[in-house]
Amino acid sequence: MIPAKAYAAQSPVSDLAPWNFERREVGPDDVQFDILYCGVCHSDLHQIHNDWFPGIFPMVPGHEIVGRVVKVGKNVTKFSVGDLAGTGCMVDSCHTCANCQAGLEQYCASGPVFTYNSLAKYTDNAPTYGGYSNTIVVKEDFVVHISEKLDLAAAAPLLCAGITTYSPLRHWKVGKGHKLAVLGLGGLGHMAVKFGVAFGAEVTVLSTSPKKEADAKKLGAHNFVVTTDEKQVEAVKGSFDFILDTVSAPHDFAFYLSLLKTNGTHICVGVPSEPAQIPPFSIIADRKSVAGSSIGGIAETQEMLDFCAEHNIVSDIELIDIKDIHTAYERMEKGDVRYRFVIDIATL
Ligand code: NAP
Ligand code: ZN
Repeated sequence: MIPAKAYAAQSPVSDLAPWNFERREVGPDDVQFDILYCGVCHSDLHQIHNDWFPGIFPMVPGHEIVGRVVKVGKNVTKFSVGDLAGTGCMVDSCHTCANCQAGLEQYCASGPVFTYNSLAKYTDNAPTYGGYSNTIVVKEDFVVHISEKLDLAAAAPLLCAGITTYSPLRHWKVGKGHKLAVLGLGGLGHMAVKFGVAFGAEVTVLSTSPKKEADAKKLGAHNFVVTTDEKQVEAVKGSFDFILDTVSAPHDFAFYLSLLKTNGTHICVGVPSEPAQIPPFSIIADRKSVAGSSIGGIAETQEMLDFCAEHNIVSDIELIDIKDIHTAYERMEKGDVRYRFVIDIATL
């Protein structure tokens, strides 16, 4: 076994603290990489707090993981020692179902193995531990390449915030001629703005935080609407083709659905702990759709990373010392993320 250091939550009510554990030995199909940076996703907070389902503890969060390869198994062909490598939200899937075969491992019929808070059912059935740690062992098929051209710390959030917003925008072919509203300007939201703009859409940020307007414009957004300002909201009623909803807390769907055009689509990527309330009249009147999307497949994640390298897209980050993780969580809970915290794993 490989000794590893981490920050872990011992229970849903305890703070994260240093914890030592072991990773599995590098198998024939595995890549081991030493973690240099790990992004902090709101999903980390949801899972530590058991917002969605009872978690597996101790829990080492972190699924925006980048680093350098230190060891490869004998069957590995796509990675060599010294390469940059990344892993996002998944580390395995069945490989055989129709979705896996189609490169949609995130929709694996048996459920993917997530990077943490999951059981590695296709290997040793042990709990998986995420990226708030110094090293990781992952099957080659779930490791992606990261260009040396990108700022590595700022590239880490692409592994979740990036792919989670890239994938639905590609799936719904959002681009030129579309009015896209990005709901919530946090980690996912700011990446959605960058991709929406890169794909040619007219992008409006819908935010509860008036102070984020200048940042939204700097990120490339064409318009900014403060959702608590009735006049501003009235002006955009019935105007959007798509809303990409990245909100982490319960919110009023009927209110946001009223901002869509006829045939408009409200795409949920945010996962509040409470179920959404969708009054039928809010969708039948103008044949609106409410849809959802989960991260993205491995091939699409590589495609997104290559797109980012070509267009020099990374996340806007605040690099933090791991001992400041609780302050980062508190700020995240208040919507005060500018726009992704990334842990410098050297501080572990
Ligand atoms: P984040 O950085 O905390 O951003 C969330 C943003 O939502 C906040 O910055 C805030 O933006 C807005 N917001 C918060 N509370 C709100 C409220 N009550 N009403 C309206 N807006 C509110 O979080 P994140 O890391 O981007 O993650 C966002 C959500 O996506 C989380 O639920 C996370 O678990 C989920 N997620 C889903 C997937 C997937 O595959 N579908 C992947 C990753 C994450 P403003 O200040 O602009 O209002
Ligand atoms: Zn995430």
